[in-house]
Amino acid sequence: MEFAGCITSPHATPLPSCSPRGPSPEKTSAEKRKKFAHIESAVIDANTGHVLDYETMSKYCELCSYKKKTLSKEKYEEWYAGHVSECHINYEGSSGGMEAAAAVILWGRSLSHNMRYTTFISDGDSSAFLAVNKMHNNVGPYGKDHPVTKEE
Ligand SMILES: [Zn+2]
Repeated sequence: MEFAGCITSPHATPLPSCSPRGPSPEKTSAEKRKKFAHIESAVIDANTGHVLDYETMSKYCELCSYKKKTLSKEKYEEWYAGHVSECHINYEGSSGGMEAAAAVILWGRSLSHNMRYTTFISDGDSSAFLAVNKMHNNVGPYGKDHPVTKEE
């Protein structure tokens, strides 16, 4: 099944050290994403508005943060071995790359849901779109016969 339009729609949670008011409104979308610890990206059918799939990316875990502060390095590593399977951290890297990483995961598993997302609708930041089109040696998630295009 092919979908005429899809949207990744990040919802982001600021890092705990950020101002509780969040980023100032004059910042661009790319600047806002730089300080986030979590984002939620969704693929939404542009015709129906239905959420087809979603992915949460996180580079922060409250429990890990607490344990790092209260345990010695050896005790922390011992504790972490039992915690790793339930840890919220599933992304390491810059906050700005989280949306692209989520998009690659979402587009990468679309065929396993018998769907092909044909159009990438997003704001001016092209990093997630470019990451999707770099999949499989730069032919995109579905090969060169089924390109993914971008709309703003
Ligand atoms: Zn953790």
